[in-house]
Amino acid sequence: MTTESVLRDNYDVIVIGSGLAGLTTANIMARSGKSVLLAEQHFQLGGLATCFRRKGGHIFDVSLHGFPVGMIKSCRRYWSKEIADHIHQLKRIGFDNPQFRLTTTFNRDDFTQLLIDKFQIPAETVDAFFDKARSMSHLDDQNMTTKELFEQFFPNRPDVVRLLMEPITYANGSTLEDPALTYGIVFSNFMSKGVYTFEGGTDLLISLMEEELKKNGVDIAMRSKVDRIEIENKRVSGVTINGQTIGAKAVVSNANLKGTILNLVGREHFSPDFFEKCDAVRLNNSSTQVYMGLKPGESFDPDVCGDLLFTSTAPEFRTDMLLSRDITSRTYSFYYPETRPGHDRYYMVASTNANYDDWASLTKEEYAESKAALIEETLDAAEKYVPGIREKLDMAEAATPVTFERYTGHIAGSSFGTKFEGLEVSRELPNRIPGLYHAGSVGIIMSGWLGAVNYGVIVSNDVDAYLFDQE
Ligand SMILES: Cc1cc2nc3c(=O)[nH]c(=O)nc-3n(C[C@H](O)[C@H](O)[C@H](O)COP(=O)(O)OP(=O)(O)OC[C@H]3O[C@@H](n4cnc5c(N)ncnc54)[C@H](O)[C@@H]3O)c2cc1C
Repeated sequence: MTTESVLRDNYDVIVIGSGLAGLTTANIMARSGKSVLLAEQHFQLGGLATCFRRKGGHIFDVSLHGFPVGMIKSCRRYWSKEIADHIHQLKRIGFDNPQFRLTTTFNRDDFTQLLIDKFQIPAETVDAFFDKARSMSHLDDQNMTTKELFEQFFPNRPDVVRLLMEPITYANGSTLEDPALTYGIVFSNFMSKGVYTFEGGTDLLISLMEEELKKNGVDIAMRSKVDRIEIENKRVSGVTINGQTIGAKAVVSNANLKGTILNLVGREHFSPDFFEKCDAVRLNNSSTQVYMGLKPGESFDPDVCGDLLFTSTAPEFRTDMLLSRDITSRTYSFYYPETRPGHDRYYMVASTNANYDDWASLTKEEYAESKAALIEETLDAAEKYVPGIREKLDMAEAATPVTFERYTGHIAGSSFGTKFEGLEVSRELPNRIPGLYHAGSVGIIMSGWLGAVNYGVIVSNDVDAYLFDQE
């Protein structure tokens, strides 16, 4: 176990995992005077909110592509003004596919104009759609799917469906077959003011968060994989890390929801009906990424590339095609020197949604070949936006669902935790085992950077109330 602090035998709260939900829970609990241990299996904090360096001065962000404006408020309230002040809008969001090519600021005003002028949709329909999406809440009827929502407002308009759906599928893995409310909430979050990023990069964000945690007295144990959550007399009593048991009044797991229940706690501690419910929760899909670092002095054209570019060669938007290893859709994030003031490099990341089995089932040789092919296919596709990319490039590297699984412990490398039904199981945990909580990507609303932070806030309130009752 690597830690800068000497660990106590007992804590008020132990948080397992330092994704954005785990970090936020740890910070809020410590700020309210609780003793907190944050145990992270990796050597870096942040979970999927991470970045990595490569020789030659390259640094790549893994999930810093865009989040809704709400992140400013959440960071200001639950972290610090300094963190909130680094959040800035990305104004150049592009689409390029066989149905249309356009650039937008990705907010309601701009989308309204586009839908009316470019897609010839009546203004009343556009307004009614936005109002409907904004009125949705997680308490709504879950029977209507996103596909049915689109059919109601934009029948026989696959081009409009693509404009409205493609970015959200990319942002949280949601599909046309998921409940419409999961689409409506996330879409409206983005439409309120557009897409935002953290200036300074993920490394700065996480180091500022680490400073806050330490200032507030959180004990941080790195390279500390929790092997088991301990249960005594049907209540949480602590965790075991590398054979050492540490006591706690409450445990918040930021690890994958299914992994928490199936592996860290174990079926013997749950009633069969709850265990079955958990077993039935579907995981969200995973991703591939290709990280491309340009040589010093090389750049790409901001007018062509913008900040975020949703590209596809598929004739129409289809969920199964988005996940296929035969890639037709890629989302590029273009990073300029301003992303990290003081860093002079241009770099880009191409992301796709992906099926874990397409990668996990390969032999070692096939896997290496498939990864190399992924890089080559991506460079071929990126040539359209960065002409001469192979000559401009200093390095390219790929991550697959297997990579995401290895670094985060998420079953099947899930990028966004579980599907929507995971939320109910996650919320039900403390009723089944007092003192046991889960905060992390579940469903579509409680995932992504903003969803993870906000879920951390919600769970902190629950833990606070539980601890108060115990006193
Ligand atoms: C390729 C990709 C691109 C993305 N792009 C965006 C984007 O542009 N915008 C956006 O908002 N979101 C994006 N996301 C999603 C976003 O990054 C995640 O939803 C969010 O960061 C998840 O936070 P979390 O709190 O659920 O925990 P996670 O980040 O999943 O972290 C969980 C942590 O728990 C640790 N852990 C697990 N098990 C144990 C154990 N037993 N003991 C100790 N530690 C353990 C892991 O090591 C990890 O650090 C992207 C995700 C991916 C994969």
